[in-house]
Amino acid sequence: MHFYSTRDVAQKAIGIDAALNAGLAIDGGLYVPSFLPKLSTIDASAGLAEIAYLALQPFFAGSSLAPVLREICAESLNLPMPTVPLLKLDGVELLELFHGPTAAFKDFAARFLASCMCRLRDSKKPIGTVLVATSGDTGGAVAAAFHHRPGFRVVILYPDGRVAPRQAHQLGAFGGNVVAFKVDGSFDDCQAMVKAMFADQALRERVDLLSANSISLGRLLPQMAYYVYAASRAAAKHGSAIDLIIPTGNLGHGVGAMMARAMGAPIQRIVLACNANRTLARTFAGERYQAQPSISTLANAMDVGAPSNFERLAHLFADEIASQSTLAWSFDDLQITSILAKAPTYYGQIVCPHTACGLLALEQLDRIADRPVLIAATAHPAKFDTVVEPIIGQSIVIPQELAALLAKSAVALSMSSNAAELKTFLLGSD
Ligand SMILES: *Cc1c(COP(=O)(O)O)cnc(C)c1O
Repeated sequence: MHFYSTRDVAQKAIGIDAALNAGLAIDGGLYVPSFLPKLSTIDASAGLAEIAYLALQPFFAGSSLAPVLREICAESLNLPMPTVPLLKLDGVELLELFHGPTAAFKDFAARFLASCMCRLRDSKKPIGTVLVATSGDTGGAVAAAFHHRPGFRVVILYPDGRVAPRQAHQLGAFGGNVVAFKVDGSFDDCQAMVKAMFADQALRERVDLLSANSISLGRLLPQMAYYVYAASRAAAKHGSAIDLIIPTGNLGHGVGAMMARAMGAPIQRIVLACNANRTLARTFAGERYQAQPSISTLANAMDVGAPSNFERLAHLFADEIASQSTLAWSFDDLQITSILAKAPTYYGQIVCPHTACGLLALEQLDRIADRPVLIAATAHPAKFDTVVEPIIGQSIVIPQELAALLAKSAVALSMSSNAAELKTFLLGSD
């Protein structure tokens, strides 16, 4: 298996080890696999780590990681992934992806990426700096995954005042090899600062910068793999392939799910459930793709106007954009508020504002006979207590992992949105 950049017409191939380390391709494109292998028969009772290993194996053929791939899956994808039924609705389940250390689905992919990167690392090299801009959840997941890993430090930038209070606390609570900066600016500013660092050749000669954002192949692949597992398990249980609803921002796990379906996982329709950022909804309704500035919503981890994986989707699945097999719908804060309020009594579930978009998509979906539906529940609602609790009028029990992080003291350093300040920090403490 080889990988090439979406922008390289010559399709010059590189191996997965190089693609994992590189993050973005040098030409600014995203790495895609040279083909999508067909899955062999899946016995979902084997469990997530084993199914993920089988689904991922062809992508790692020829890699130095091939002999340890089973071990990587076992140590990183060892998180619970339960499904819970919704009241009154047969065959509709929430797929809870938030039982990792930071209570959001990004834990799966960040842990897998860290497990790969640690094994790819040459121990004689100086320390590697994982530099991430986060709108809230990525930074925590990446920090948790690399915390205490020798040979790495993590530098997180988040927009001050624009992440949930518990997200901010979590980002500052790691300490050790993790440094959190609260930036006086927007998420787009944070992302621009990170991009400027990666484009600065003089800096990169002195500091080994590593990327862990949602375009990284090492995050895409495990998200494909967990949907192979979740769909196979649900299909075995219900006796039918499923429709899948995915709360979507940068299209990380959305593209993962589309890959899983193309490889033969029992998934029929995929619905990308977005907040008031309408870029994908417009595109899937037939308009030409047009990135927009992001707008702030209650589902802040999906505040994305230029989904970073769209280029990958357009490259791999162009013909699905106008098809009925993949749909993209957008919901505004009023709709999110009303379904958050309704969900506890009506569906028997308290959900986070992102998962709320998934429930809204369910209500809009014309269900086909009794085809089962899985809705990805992307974060624990306790992470967004300041949004959810006033709406539902009750307090949410905090899961144990989140409580442990919240009990620690948190420190975030202030930084302006000036890239020079970040560069000085990176150079000064390498
Ligand atoms: C990141 C995130 C999303 C969006 O996922 P993408 O892969 O960026 O589309 C949805 N919900 C939550 C809670 C998130 O943290």
